[in-house]
Amino acid sequence: MLSKILKESDIKRFKEFIRKSERILLICHVRPDGDAIGSTLGFYHLLKGLGKDVKVLTPDQAPRSLSFLKGYDELVSFARYPDYGSRLLNESDLIICCDFNCLKRIDNLGNLVANSDSKKVLIDHHVDPEYFCDLTFSFPEMSSTCELSFRIIAALGYYAEMDINAATSLCTGIITDTQNFSVNCNNPEIYEVLMKLLDKGVDKPKIVREALRVKTLDCFNLQVYALSNNMTLHRNDRVSIVTLDKEELERFNYVKGDSEGIVDRPLDIRTVVASFFLREDSDCIKVSARSVGDFPVNEICKKLYGGGGHVMAAGGEYTEGSLEDCLNLLIKSLPEYDKALEAAYHKGNC
Ligand code: 5GP
Ligand code: MN
Repeated sequence: MLSKILKESDIKRFKEFIRKSERILLICHVRPDGDAIGSTLGFYHLLKGLGKDVKVLTPDQAPRSLSFLKGYDELVSFARYPDYGSRLLNESDLIICCDFNCLKRIDNLGNLVANSDSKKVLIDHHVDPEYFCDLTFSFPEMSSTCELSFRIIAALGYYAEMDINAATSLCTGIITDTQNFSVNCNNPEIYEVLMKLLDKGVDKPKIVREALRVKTLDCFNLQVYALSNNMTLHRNDRVSIVTLDKEELERFNYVKGDSEGIVDRPLDIRTVVASFFLREDSDCIKVSARSVGDFPVNEICKKLYGGGGHVMAAGGEYTEGSLEDCLNLLIKSLPEYDKALEAAYHKGNC
């Protein structure tokens, strides 16, 4: 049995919101990942099965790696279709926000969601949520928004209505956020959730291959290049930084999502406890960070780049200068974390 972490009154209210709504809009964060798309599509399939008029609106386009999911072709990118997206917002009775904790994380959609008269529900696992919704399900101890979504759907009494497409979507977010059950996976209950998803006929090897492994040759070459040419180690080899500038991205015909996973690899080096990846985008330097041993990369991302995230998986956007400025800012700030880096090294390696 899954522990009862959800308040019955919250579940009752959510069920009422759903019952009273005809048009339901699901929204996730910018640069959506497997958990963002998995949770929105999970609810999309479930609510469609319940006879609702449902749409998923993403701030920008979802990565191709998730195109194996049913419903991917129905995703509406606000960046691409702003008028249609605004209409969907205006016409919705209920907005369900998945996998983000503040309006800043949905870019231009933020103001529109804030000013919308629709009922709003937040379903998320990031710390420090903004309370902009009528109902907030915030559980930072969850592995993923998809795990939380499964628990909410079960508590709503809709497990029976969950079809294989909903189950596959939810399983995808759990698999991507836990890197196929290698991080944030010590709670035995996550395996009970997995079991119940597999019971629906989910093909786990297919999800792992599609969502985590398979890539284009260009993407593969970009990743190999970044790691073999652009990785530097700092602070007694405790910190790794990998960069990719615009010219390098263009050289490998970069498309969104191609750098996914680069940031994780340097943690395979025994001495490395914090890994940063800096990518020169058109409007900012995108920072991704990962760590082991509870080294708080979210603090660094927040302090230096106005970002945030989880203790061991975080990110931010640097808009104050060039890629080199962003790199220098990071390198300059590292000495103050030497003690925490050593502590994380011992915690991660004993
Ligand atoms: P990724 O490195 O995969 O883009 O992001 C890892 C995690 O860091 C995300 O799940 C999210 O929690 C957080 N994150 C990434 N980018 C940002 C950002 O720009 N702002 C904030 N607040 N969090 C971010
Ligand atoms: Mn997530």
